[in-house]
Amino acid sequence: MLKDKVFIALGGNIGAVPQTFDQAIGRLRSDIKILKVSSYYRAKPAGFTQQNDFYNAAILVHYPNQPIALLDILQKTEKKFGKKFIHLNGPRSLDLDIVFWGNKTFSSSKLTIPHPRAFVRDFVLVPCAEIAPQYTPVGKTKTLAELVANIDKKNGYLINRIKRN
Ligand code: ADP
Ligand code: MG
Repeated sequence: MLKDKVFIALGGNIGAVPQTFDQAIGRLRSDIKILKVSSYYRAKPAGFTQQNDFYNAAILVHYPNQPIALLDILQKTEKKFGKKFIHLNGPRSLDLDIVFWGNKTFSSSKLTIPHPRAFVRDFVLVPCAEIAPQYTPVGKTKTLAELVANIDKKNGYLINRIKRN
């Protein structure tokens, strides 16, 4: 059943990010039912390139309540791990984004689902495809496995698996 299954992307490039991911996932477990955790990956920064490489991962969770309530939990967790807004695409210790939510779409000033930049970000699609290869995102005709197989091969080197969960 797809309903209430949510993909959350983790990112960060300041501090000991893999440990931050471990701790953040541990904290989230007290509020949210976590079904799957992807490997941790490293990727070159997108957009603003004069910064450290990023770590990326994805988790699949079951969340039966309102999308805004989940965003609130994620933003509180980001704050706990020291996220400061420097600028869009800029450095951060922990970024938690809602990527897909079953076959739901959502649009408000604070929250857009699917995440507007999900499909142009290999570092989001690759970890999501690892944990749910057969999922077809809302509005698409291809599964995550197929979308990832179509990723431009010249970008392939950008994503490196560093820790298998
Ligand atoms: P990005 O993740 O694109 O680098 P930020 O993490 O700085 O950007 O997020 C900026 C704002 O994006 C947040 O304050 C939040 O309200 C908004 N936002 C919109 N859609 C989403 C989503 N699907 N998941 C998380 N945040 C979102
Ligand atoms: Mg974000």
